[in-house]
Amino acid sequence: MTASVKIDIAEDTILVGIGASPGIAIASSHLVNRARVVAIERRIAAEEVQAEIEAFEDALEKARKHLREVKDQALQEGLSEHLYIIDTHLLILEDQMLVGDTKDLIRLELVNAEGALCRVLKRLRRIFDSISDEYIRERRSDIDSVGDRIMRNLVGEVRETLNAVAGPVLVVAHDLSPADTVQMDKDKIVGFVTDVGSRTAHTAILARSLGIPAVVGLETATSLIPNGLPMIIDGNTGTVVLKPSTETFREYLEKKKRYDYLEKELEEFRSLSAETRDGHHIVLRANIDLGDEIEEARKQGAEGIGLFRTEFLFMGGNGPPTEDEQFEAYREAVEKMAPHPVTIRTLDVGGDKFVPEFNLADELNPVMGLRAVRFSLKEVKLFRTQLRAILRASVFGEVRIMFPMISGVGEMRACRQFLEDAKQELRQEGLGFSEQVPVGVMIETPSAVLVADLLAREADFFSVGTNDLIQYCLAIDRGNEHVAYLYEPMHPAVLRALRQVCQAAESEGIEVGMCGEMAGEQLYCLVLIALGFRELSMNSSNISRLKRIMRQVPLQEIREMLERIIDLPTAAEVSEALEEEMLQRFPELFGLPEI
Ligand code: PEP
Ligand code: MG
Repeated sequence: MTASVKIDIAEDTILVGIGASPGIAIASSHLVNRARVVAIERRIAAEEVQAEIEAFEDALEKARKHLREVKDQALQEGLSEHLYIIDTHLLILEDQMLVGDTKDLIRLELVNAEGALCRVLKRLRRIFDSISDEYIRERRSDIDSVGDRIMRNLVGEVRETLNAVAGPVLVVAHDLSPADTVQMDKDKIVGFVTDVGSRTAHTAILARSLGIPAVVGLETATSLIPNGLPMIIDGNTGTVVLKPSTETFREYLEKKKRYDYLEKELEEFRSLSAETRDGHHIVLRANIDLGDEIEEARKQGAEGIGLFRTEFLFMGGNGPPTEDEQFEAYREAVEKMAPHPVTIRTLDVGGDKFVPEFNLADELNPVMGLRAVRFSLKEVKLFRTQLRAILRASVFGEVRIMFPMISGVGEMRACRQFLEDAKQELRQEGLGFSEQVPVGVMIETPSAVLVADLLAREADFFSVGTNDLIQYCLAIDRGNEHVAYLYEPMHPAVLRALRQVCQAAESEGIEVGMCGEMAGEQLYCLVLIALGFRELSMNSSNISRLKRIMRQVPLQEIREMLERIIDLPTAAEVSEALEEEMLQRFPELFGLPEI
């Protein structure tokens, strides 16, 4: 590509997208053509069917070969914890909905392979678009990547490979696949921006793990940015500066130096214990969706898994996993995490977590509908199977069970009864399990908060799911961008709810932890400790950040800080006071100048 700079871009032009991977990078742009291939559908004669199916199979095989090469490369580069992403793509290549349906269309509707694949991909995209859970919806991007690769193979178009780039450059593309990201040489590609994408797409997840700063969802990046343009990307804020002036360049260079220093410093905290300055230990655990994430959790120093979201085991297969399949998945997780515990949450589908396999009925208000334990208590066979699998895994290490979306004691007792029944069955069948498996309640509904004192008598531990608790407490749909500004973790109502839960747990002498996103945010860390949380579970990349904060303040001071802010009347006042407190204590962390 020629290095030409468009003259109509003004100095310091700012684009704002989604900060998908933190860090600051400064270099010239390198445009990569990742526009989707246009498929041309045509009718075929019956005699052409076989040739079209073979062409399709050939395209699948080429895609498989490519992905295996990427996998080998990832292995050689020590990226073993990310192999599941490539494996997911290899699995998509075997998926019946994709492969079987495309072949059926070729055969039954006499459509060429390109056209048939295009139709199937459109249908799959529509299914994923209708899912309101962001993480699951973003799996659509995996279908896109794989679909695009097969399509290119079909039409014979070659993709530019990123490892041939002469760096250092900032890649600008419409979209990038996880395979593209794995192949990036960090010395050459110092960051990337894309028109589409989100924080939870696999490309973003990989970029974060690889430490490559990225801004996605810019919409117009490829149409605005020419090749060879000097630019800055700030993956922390989602800001992109085109043609930076000397002054802006210097400011960002300073900001980059500080950011890189703080990140480097974080590594030192990995091996240190998670405790306040005066030695009060806080257990920091990891949230995981799949067992493969345990390796990373261990590396980051997690003392166990505080939330294993089991719903991901139920997606993408042909029907729900069997008891043995679940048992294997739980056992593997438990063994990998030993001697620390793994907290397995029973299935939390329904509401915003749509699992296509279950054909959930259309509900007018799904978030308040048949979800989580309500679903399990209705689909009792599934529930029993899952409980048996979890119990059986408890022989191999420390397992804790927790039930999502409990709204009161009645539901908790019903769940416990199923658990007792499952134990009885296992005893009769002579299958082993631990009699000591602790049973927890997720506190996610306002009713659970109001009866927390009663629930505390029925549970071995509490784990607060703030993602849902805040949504139900403040009556704000967590996935609705129009009311996102009202989603305030520091709302006095939320703080009071959290305090009430901690007090109830303390009175009954049970453990209280948190596994919602709030638990991993450095801004809230001291507030949560002061409230009484002694277990925080989060995305494992945040563990060192929280240690860095808590290790600098003694518990008494943390409590005094809470006293100063907890009775303020509005969310804005609490947030402002908290930010001020944190800024004074940690100017280097909370005082980065916003440019
Ligand atoms: C929560 O609601 O805070 C939680 C951890 O559960 P999920 O995000 O899976 O609903
Ligand atoms: Mg929840």
